[in-house]
Amino acid sequence: MRTLIIEDEHALAEAIADGLAAEGFVSDLAHDGPDGLWRALHEPYDVIVLDIMLPGLSGYEVLKRLRAARAWTPVLIVSAKAGEYDEADALDLGADDYLSKPFSYVVLVAHLRALLRRGAPARPAVLTAGDLTLDPARRRCRRGHREIDLTTREFALLEYLLRHPDEVISKTDILTHVWDEYFDGDTNIVEVYVGYLRRKIDAPFGRRTIETVRGAGYRLRGGAG
Ligand code: CA
Repeated sequence: MRTLIIEDEHALAEAIADGLAAEGFVSDLAHDGPDGLWRALHEPYDVIVLDIMLPGLSGYEVLKRLRAARAWTPVLIVSAKAGEYDEADALDLGADDYLSKPFSYVVLVAHLRALLRRGAPARPAVLTAGDLTLDPARRRCRRGHREIDLTTREFALLEYLLRHPDEVISKTDILTHVWDEYFDGDTNIVEVYVGYLRRKIDAPFGRRTIETVRGAGYRLRGGAG
């Protein structure tokens, strides 16, 4: 199981990672809110341990943005000071569980395992275009019964297009939603990735799901697939 630990106290973050490693969890660490959010949005984690008091963005803000981006990775909030924030607030914002510091690793691991068993609660609907299906929660893409292996970026691009079927989407729109806000390269990267996607979801099946709209951008044909 791959875990993201977003915790600004380095020693504590490393101690948690060590404790989890002993239980067979692989952990990545982020020490501030923006880095944690970026990783949570771009890497496939099974579960996220999220501190509340963080530099850059609070844990609450990270959680809010994560859910707004329809990322449903289970999140366990760990709060620094009991009573400073309410457990109900955390759960309202879309956290799946809550622990007050200090906690023992035994308890932490038990909570994480329970979360993993339960899975993400607010699973979004599977997105489809004809016989093309994309399941954001399970990170799966299929054409009919054939499983298609997509990279994280290809997956995000296809998900964005599937959420806007039959609309003309500009390359700039795609850059804004699929690449992070700090990306300052040119829009040719979008063409490159649309090409990668077509070679995986369309060309082998003789389809043309993603149309080029000359001078304007791209349009995903929602019905035809
Ligand atoms: Ca903290």
